[in-house]
Amino acid sequence: MKIQLVLFLFFLFLMIPIGNTPALSMEIAKQNQVKDIAFEEKISPNVNHQWKKTSSEFEMIHADTHEYTVWHNFIKKTRKCDITHRMKTDVWYCDLHKHTRSEVSLEETIHSNRHS
Ligand SMILES: [Zn+2]
Ligand SMILES: [Zn+2]
Repeated sequence: MKIQLVLFLFFLFLMIPIGNTPALSMEIAKQNQVKDIAFEEKISPNVNHQWKKTSSEFEMIHADTHEYTVWHNFIKKTRKCDITHRMKTDVWYCDLHKHTRSEVSLEETIHSNRHS
């Protein structure tokens, strides 16, 4: 009984950081964007950069759950569908000024169930 409780708490502990990761990294990406814009303004408004794409990361973020109705054998049924956003984070590095820039974009909206 005690071992089961310890295991349960252990898995709970494991779940917490995984659940927070997408939102957290999105927040960091947003902060970087704001920071880099401020940094660029300090250099010069019309400066040329040597942006090189260093990485592209994809994240799946659960956006929403909605309900839809289907008819099955003349019975109206309500089903739940999860909406997931596939987010892309591009990171660019400028060798000229040694700074980075990141861009977050929505690549795809995925519904867990096919429905009209
Ligand atoms: Zn630059
Ligand atoms: Zn849907």
